[in-house]
Amino acid sequence: MIKNILAILCGIAFSMSTAHAKPFVFACEPEWEFIAKEIGGDQIRTVSATHGLQNPHFIRVKPSLMSKIKKADLLICSGADLEVGWLPLLLRNGNKSIQAGQIGHLLVSDYVDNIEIPEVLDRSMGDIHPGGNPHIHLDPEIISKTASMVASRLSLIDPENRQIYVKNLDSFESNWRSAMARWKTAGESLAGKRVVVHHKSFSYLLNFLEIETLTSLEDKAGIPPSARHLSEIVTLIEGSSAIAIIRTPFDPKSAGDWVSDKTGIPVVTLPFTVGGSPEATDLYKVYDASIQLLLQ
Ligand SMILES: [Zn+2]
Repeated sequence: MIKNILAILCGIAFSMSTAHAKPFVFACEPEWEFIAKEIGGDQIRTVSATHGLQNPHFIRVKPSLMSKIKKADLLICSGADLEVGWLPLLLRNGNKSIQAGQIGHLLVSDYVDNIEIPEVLDRSMGDIHPGGNPHIHLDPEIISKTASMVASRLSLIDPENRQIYVKNLDSFESNWRSAMARWKTAGESLAGKRVVVHHKSFSYLLNFLEIETLTSLEDKAGIPPSARHLSEIVTLIEGSSAIAIIRTPFDPKSAGDWVSDKTGIPVVTLPFTVGGSPEATDLYKVYDASIQLLLQ
């Protein structure tokens, strides 16, 4: 009798595991969830660990995230130590298929050239960009490359729907390429302009638009600006043609406001990622809105 029940239970478990379940993508940031949705469409389920108004360097790991990562088939994160404060803890709860070295583990920085890699790394100074600048989603070429990696990974995880992923990648590529051309044209008059940033959140976008970063309000990435450093910045701005101080929705406001007050140059808050402002409902609109705000 017990043997029969066990056989039935095993049979149910086997049929459940072989039934086609939609791949579940666990993205660390909203930009990667956006790409997963573009490529996976209705064939996948997704979640993002952070939202657009959160600083992805620092989040608190909630129990809800712990239970979500257990079900993940594909993990997509920026890497380059952006998530070093919270991802290792989450990964310990994830299944084998999303651990380092597996198909389900995709840290985008492992496959692209990060910029601003420190020549000398002094962790005692608290630099939070030890592996170079991890805010790679603001490089449109990196987005294109990531979309193609996501399509390959999803095709391996869920080969039945490979053709759908390839087709979605093709249409994403063509839409993204036309958007890139549009952004280049729209941002033409910004080339050669200078800005001050709060944190080096926008370096890739500024490079794409050929805008120069005069300086950053943080002495070192992740370290709150000192009063002395801010006074030096005021002097630096006065002798320059900087057009704006730019920040994310989650950067502390006081330093930028103080410098703006002293110098008269405006502070501009850019959306940074999907959900970073009411209009930034997808990654195309993040780029659109950022360029429009810089032009204003
Ligand atoms: Zn950063």
